[in-house]
Amino acid sequence: MYKLDVQLARDTMLATFGPDRYMKFVVALNGRCQQKRRMFFWQDEMWNQVQEQLGVRINDFSTITGLFRFCHVHNEELRQELVPIGYGTRQATGNYIEAMESKFPYANEVYFGPSWHEKPKHCEVYFCDACRAAKNLWQDQLPD
Ligand SMILES: [Zn+2]
Repeated sequence: MYKLDVQLARDTMLATFGPDRYMKFVVALNGRCQQKRRMFFWQDEMWNQVQEQLGVRINDFSTITGLFRFCHVHNEELRQELVPIGYGTRQATGNYIEAMESKFPYANEVYFGPSWHEKPKHCEVYFCDACRAAKNLWQDQLPD
């Protein structure tokens, strides 16, 4: 079992691929990858290069995710919390989605599950404190 320093993993990834590709890796890892519980092929290739440089071998998805679990907008570590699940169709406008993606990708105050599920009431999510603050600010500025 390897123990890899979080900062070393991040620094190596950034130095190897540059900020754009590094952020793309992190955004996908904390976003779309979380549903399928594995990385994309192009992420595997990036991760393998980093591992080669560091001389480690870590293939466990949860461990890899743990190394890069931060908000790419605010550069803050994500925290875990139990939140209510909102069922049904999400009432999100284009403006909201655009603001969410750029200003508060990890507000995650409610988890939206598919409506045909058995209905548990809560679910664990990762969130960013600064995202929640940014979301509140954005909502306060909306016209009534
Ligand atoms: Zn954030």
